[in-house]
Amino acid sequence: MNFSRRVLDTPPYLFHLIDEKRKAVQEKGIDVISLAIGDPDRPTPDFVLDIMAREMRDPRNHGYPSYKGEPDFCDAVARWFHDRFEVELDPRSEIMAVIGAKDAVSHLPFVFLDPGDSAIVTDPGYPVYEASIGFTGGKVVRVPLSEDRGFLPDLDAIDPRAADEAKIMFVNYPNNPTAAVADETFFEKLVAFAKKHGLVILADNAYSEVYFEEEDRPISIMKIPGAKETSIEIHSFSKTFNMTGWRIGFVTGGKQLIDAFLTLKSNFDSGVFMAIQRTAARALEHSKAKAFNKERTALFKKRRDRIASALEGMGFKFQLPRASYYFWVHTPPSYASSVVFCADLLEKKGLVVTPGVGYGPSGENFFRISMTSPDERIEQGMERLRDFMKER
Ligand code: PLP
Repeated sequence: MNFSRRVLDTPPYLFHLIDEKRKAVQEKGIDVISLAIGDPDRPTPDFVLDIMAREMRDPRNHGYPSYKGEPDFCDAVARWFHDRFEVELDPRSEIMAVIGAKDAVSHLPFVFLDPGDSAIVTDPGYPVYEASIGFTGGKVVRVPLSEDRGFLPDLDAIDPRAADEAKIMFVNYPNNPTAAVADETFFEKLVAFAKKHGLVILADNAYSEVYFEEEDRPISIMKIPGAKETSIEIHSFSKTFNMTGWRIGFVTGGKQLIDAFLTLKSNFDSGVFMAIQRTAARALEHSKAKAFNKERTALFKKRRDRIASALEGMGFKFQLPRASYYFWVHTPPSYASSVVFCADLLEKKGLVVTPGVGYGPSGENFFRISMTSPDERIEQGMERLRDFMKER
């Protein structure tokens, strides 16, 4: 078969590989517990389902949607953005609907990169950043995230020539996989860095609503003066409303940037099912949305604290997650590789966690635990991990 270099040179998707391994162990009759993927175990809330039940029966929602997003969807996003982030966005020119954040992340590099162009990513990071840059024929420049800097990139340490050459830089706070958060000062520096080096920041804010303390409440890069000209911010409904399977999100940015993305996307896909857009729009402003968010935060905070105390008891080293669904944990020093650690854990205890190196070379010697499984499965998972550590 004559597959393209693009496909031949791209490694299989991390979670697809993990899924294959999980299935192979399951086929041996072992009850596998997966704490690998960030897919909430709880259903989409009833108030959202009730809206969808009506919207999907409305024949006005059954045709092709507008490429940019339905006006009422963009209006609702603009109002929510004002309420949540104190940022004014023009719903007609500065907001666009996407088929989940992954749609934006995987296609935005095509807006900026020609073959041979370079793009900066933080390492470790969501694997789709590197893959999509690779698909454009672009070159990846990795900037390491270290624990002692709170997993924020050291912008001053980036080679100025590499920064000048780069066309885009992906950042993601709240961060997957490290669970770190970034404050306004960091985003101010980032916008100044983008202006200085003439690059565009692609700020992935998919976890903007998943945080534990008010002091860590994520902000929007759009709040920083000059950000609309230098940045596109990516948002998702997946994690906010347990809607991973629905496939809806949006991007924000200045008109020029959004128009360029629209040129690409209108040729690639035909937008998001209108019933889903209208449901998502109403969910954002629904009277039950804030209470739901509070309940979800309480659930994950409880899980976070239980997992933290279990891991501490086993002697693991980690920072307490401040946002997102993840624990980013050092592998025991006796393991030279995170892949070997995770494979051993799956083989011996039927427990799936993800190897840190899957998120980039700086993720080696870490593994990621996701909190998105039912409480009893998490408890059982922690017991298996405890047994594994004792029996080693
Ligand atoms: N960005 C990050 C950092 C993620 O972790 C994920 C999913 O896990 C996504 C984007 C994709 O989100 P969506 O479901 O909206 O495509």
